Amino acid sequence: MPEYILALDQGTTSSRAIVFREDGSEVSSAQKEIKQIFPHPGWVEHDPTELLHSQIDVARAALERLGSEIKYLSSACLTNQRETTLLWEKETGSPVYNAIVWQCRRSSSICDELKKRGFAELIHKKTGLLIDAYFSATKILWLFRQYPELMKRARNGKILFGTVDSWLLYNLTGMHLTDITNASRTMLFNINSLSWDEEILEELCIPPQMLPKVLPSCAEFGIVGKEIFAKEVPILGVAGDQQAALFGQGCFKKGSMKNTYGTGCFILMNTGKNPCYSEKGLITSPAWVINGKATYAIEGSVFIAGALIQWMRDRLKIIKDVRESDTIASSLEGNEGVYLVPAFVGLGAPHWNMDARGIICGLTRNAGYEHIVRAGLESIAYQSHDVIRLMEKETGIRANVLKADGGACKNDFLMQFQSDILGKSVARPRSVESTALGAFYLAGLRAGIFSGVAQIEKSIRVDREFHPGIGDDKRAQLLQGWERAVRKALLA
Ligand code: ADP
Repeated sequence: MPEYILALDQGTTSSRAIVFREDGSEVSSAQKEIKQIFPHPGWVEHDPTELLHSQIDVARAALERLGSEIKYLSSACLTNQRETTLLWEKETGSPVYNAIVWQCRRSSSICDELKKRGFAELIHKKTGLLIDAYFSATKILWLFRQYPELMKRARNGKILFGTVDSWLLYNLTGMHLTDITNASRTMLFNINSLSWDEEILEELCIPPQMLPKVLPSCAEFGIVGKEIFAKEVPILGVAGDQQAALFGQGCFKKGSMKNTYGTGCFILMNTGKNPCYSEKGLITSPAWVINGKATYAIEGSVFIAGALIQWMRDRLKIIKDVRESDTIASSLEGNEGVYLVPAFVGLGAPHWNMDARGIICGLTRNAGYEHIVRAGLESIAYQSHDVIRLMEKETGIRANVLKADGGACKNDFLMQFQSDILGKSVARPRSVESTALGAFYLAGLRAGIFSGVAQIEKSIRVDREFHPGIGDDKRAQLLQGWERAVRKALLA
């Protein structure tokens, strides 16, 4: 008899639901966009009710498509946008404010204060993170400062905090829970003891009673009632989106890594049983805990990746469809010295310069829109290269293969160029839904569909593997050109 698992995937731009069969193939799915709320420049919010209802709606739509086969549905799992912060009333479950999204910069001045108070080192050592508005802690502090009664009520146990996973779990199962991967992005979680950090909570005056209980990603997270999904469904796996994707790509061995090519790029490398700390702004988090044993990951990101291709379509108007960029770039033999550095919002690791701005350079009279398109795609690969090289340098671990997923991994030119410039193979899996698949594997382990990660690894199918097609000299020459271009962007 088949066995189905429902994966809920609550992302930044949409809520999705996918029903997986026990072999990892998709049976049905549904998706709905989420409204992005921008109350001020640099602020981003989501409506908590919309997050919940869109997630329930897509799950119901995916389940309806199963018809009578819903009888095969045994459990559910959840993966979600990380760091996004919600507070709600314990008694009624009503949200007290909109969800403050990870991208929201409203708490940057609180971060500056914390740095001035000398907390950077302590936070880095204990949480693996840098003090940044990105993470949940200063978003909570911002709410407390804005609405001081919230802190009092939180102390009295009346207000609860959670990231999106906790918010959905509370409403779906009535349990106030989170998993280790989501907890580790709050800036309140000790990644060595794998528990909320008392010292940080005390220093930041965050009442521990408002925090969810933390479970490993592969555990029992409560049961969704019959009134929601027409039958009782236990939730057996929860993980933040990037860790879920690492798991879904089968990056189980130390040194295995994945890059998700979406709006930006998220690169995670499995660093094994020990956390590896970066001096140059990479982030350290638990990747997962299975059978009581933690595996850690180091993470870096590229701010502008697929967003650049959208920009070429919507603002430059040199392509009609993002997919066209593939054939246009491939129509040229080389970049002819044209480079594009998409430092639209500054440059992240390894440069860390928020004042850098985008440039196109190396133009000659022969340069046309094709060169700009090609330089744009190449820039995604160069930026990823810079993060990966930094990761290898700082961890002392070398990766052999890069596993790719996300919308832009469908671009063959980009994948080939990534492989050329890294001097490593790049593997694209058959199912690029790595995030949902990761949550499915976690629940599948708990449900006993998989006996261990070795069995999961065997079930992952590669669509295409790209191998380096240029020599070391050519690679060095191209990288030199890129580095020159980056230096110009830093001066911009
Ligand atoms: P996110 O999860 O960040 O919303 P997705 O993984 O859905 O992103 O990927 C969408 C991004 O990928 C968009 O920015 C889009 O420009 C880019 N993209 C999608 N398909 C292609 C393609 N064939 N070539 C280049 N970029 C692409």
